[in-house]
Amino acid sequence: MILGDQLNSNHQWFARPEPNAAYVLMEIRQETDYVTHHIQKIAAFFAAMRHFAERLRSKGHQVLYLPLDDPENRQDLGGNLRELVRKHGFQRFEYQWPDEYRLDRQLLQLIAELGIPAQAFDSKHFLTERHEVGDFFKGKKRFLMESFYRFMRKKHDILMEQGKPVGGKWNYDRKNQNPYDGKAPIPKPLVFSNNVSDIYQMIQKTSLKTLGQIDPQNLIWPISRPQSLKLLDYFVENLLPLFGSYQDAMTQANWHLFHSRLSFSLNTKMISPKELIDSAVSAWQEHPAQISLPQIEGFVRQILGWREYMRGLYWELMPELFEMNYLSHQGKLPQFYWTGETKMNCLKQVVSQSLRHAYAHHIQRLMITGNFALLAGVEPARVDEWYLGIYIDAVQWVELTNTRGMSQFAEGGLIATKPYASSARYIKRMSDYCESCTYDWKKRHGLNACPFNSLYWHFFERHQNRLANNPRIGMAYRTWAKMDAKEKRKTLAQADAYGQNLDQL
Ligand SMILES: Cc1cc2nc3c(=O)[nH]c(=O)nc-3n(C[C@H](O)[C@H](O)[C@H](O)COP(=O)(O)OP(=O)(O)OC[C@H]3O[C@@H](n4cnc5c(N)ncnc54)[C@H](O)[C@@H]3O)c2cc1C
Ligand code: SF4
Repeated sequence: MILGDQLNSNHQWFARPEPNAAYVLMEIRQETDYVTHHIQKIAAFFAAMRHFAERLRSKGHQVLYLPLDDPENRQDLGGNLRELVRKHGFQRFEYQWPDEYRLDRQLLQLIAELGIPAQAFDSKHFLTERHEVGDFFKGKKRFLMESFYRFMRKKHDILMEQGKPVGGKWNYDRKNQNPYDGKAPIPKPLVFSNNVSDIYQMIQKTSLKTLGQIDPQNLIWPISRPQSLKLLDYFVENLLPLFGSYQDAMTQANWHLFHSRLSFSLNTKMISPKELIDSAVSAWQEHPAQISLPQIEGFVRQILGWREYMRGLYWELMPELFEMNYLSHQGKLPQFYWTGETKMNCLKQVVSQSLRHAYAHHIQRLMITGNFALLAGVEPARVDEWYLGIYIDAVQWVELTNTRGMSQFAEGGLIATKPYASSARYIKRMSDYCESCTYDWKKRHGLNACPFNSLYWHFFERHQNRLANNPRIGMAYRTWAKMDAKEKRKTLAQADAYGQNLDQL
């Protein structure tokens, strides 16, 4: 069995056709319905799976593919597997370890009931074993990404020179946090024109609930390995030279800036993290004048560091992570997360872009939508559902760790050493959103005061017990302590008023 995010054509399984084996892929309601997904995400997954199945067939493999609208489709893993074993008389079941805890547990239970021998295989995608990150941090109070990243650089000998980091420094984050000043031209994005009308019609026919927009004749996302490799080449040649410099920047004039948009190709395993790193590092070695060290280091850090780290922490912290809510937030997700209809320009831009393209880059996710949900006290489970549905690349092992851990501080500081909470000041510095907003980014209270400001202080005030002793946020509490009592009262009253009317903002 091959799951929808296991489309690794280089896996040992496919080295040669096995006359007595069939590969099973299935489109099932179990996976389309556990949250409401973006329509482009469903279309891209199904299109990539169908493409993968065709490719296997063309190489002489036998494939059993169950489309969503097949009358024989039982719509869940168990029902379909039991039926296939009965119908085809399979004597053995093999699968690749799922990356989601939910599926992992379901399969363990299923194989016990299937009545035939079963074996699980590594999906041969990641640079770490499932429990390697957990083992690395064994006995430590905090899981510092930086120390794991350095270990990975050494272990895989990437950007290293005689045991030391190339250039003498491990980290170039400080050089990589520029706002976009509009000077460097942003290359046009490489987008594809995949016709997924058949899948679109099937989605309509089966009344599947989805969110967001789609042009079914022009799905822009890569749905095959050749397209994924093209996107990788395009990134390395055109975007990597400025990737690091503007990786935290946001502008309403452009939805992708210098980001790779490779996460869907990676998360479906159409390409591997090692391929990405090798390709980017070779380009840097060949063109050091165009690609500086901070750019390549910034990119390697995302793949070799953050991505592997998040995946390892997921396995270390599940299933508890799924329930964590350190700050006891219980609020509802404001309605504008589903529509983009809000006067707050930053949220309007990021949510509308997400509905249009099923994509937002990291800082848009962390510092706009995530930051606001955190300040407004939204229940982490509601925030998770939204992130898990809306993005093209959303799969739980990476979504949950980023949302609960990094963005909502729901695990209490194991992953992020401090909450990623910010007032309008950060958004003003890193974007042009505030320039065309109804709200005034400078104001804490009063007419058209930016909601981020009062909610920011309210957040720190209401969580004093849990956060005031954190040395990384001492500055915020010192500023708050120095603030005039009347100013504090007005700010908190403004936050209360906004908090009670989030849907009207
Ligand atoms: C609240 C929140 C939710 C997120 N949910 C997801 C998700 O469901 N799926 C997902 O793949 N990423 C998620 N991310 C991480 C990151 O935002 C996306 O990987 C990135 O925006 C994808 O766009 P890109 O391919 O253009 O990335 P680039 O900016 O080009 O970065 C290159 C690659 O680095 C990796 N990467 C970068 N940052 C991270 C990170 N923090 N964690 C893991 N990998 C990282 C990704 O594979 C990405 O494709 C989330 C981040 C936040 C803050
Ligand atoms: S003023 Fe406030 S709400 Fe408006 S764009 Fe800036 S940060 Fe966002």
